Amino acid sequence: MPEDCIFCKILAGEIPAAKVHETENTLAFEDINPKAPVHVLVIPRKHIPTINDLAREDGALVGEMMLAAREVARLKGVDRSGYRIIFNTNREAGQEVFHIHLHVLGGHPLGPMG
Ligand code: 5GP
Ligand code: ZN
Repeated sequence: MPEDCIFCKILAGEIPAAKVHETENTLAFEDINPKAPVHVLVIPRKHIPTINDLAREDGALVGEMMLAAREVARLKGVDRSGYRIIFNTNREAGQEVFHIHLHVLGGHPLGPMG
């Protein structure tokens, strides 16, 4: 586990987080600085810095992250109204934490992308 990874510290219980959902391979928790009424992060327990670092064998893990996101949307009551799933990769996309995570955003109209 990289010493300086905030999300590895959350996984280790060294930093608190408001957990929403967990599985053997994933954890979902509330974003500390929410950008929408529903803003939950889904992370794998495995430390992978960016989407660029995914290996072919990580495909099932990313699929599990999507299934976890679906469950988060249901638990948060936005599965019918609508939600957006985002993976940011590297600086120009705004990636700040280099442990892959998907954002589940919803709870109000989200507007166009860009
Ligand atoms: P990124 O910009 O890398 O795609 O998203 C990182 C997200 O992690 C941001 O939305 C930020 O608010 C959130 N975040 C950063 N540090 C913490 C933390 O210590 N706890 C929680 N719950 N979220 C965090
Ligand atoms: Zn990590």
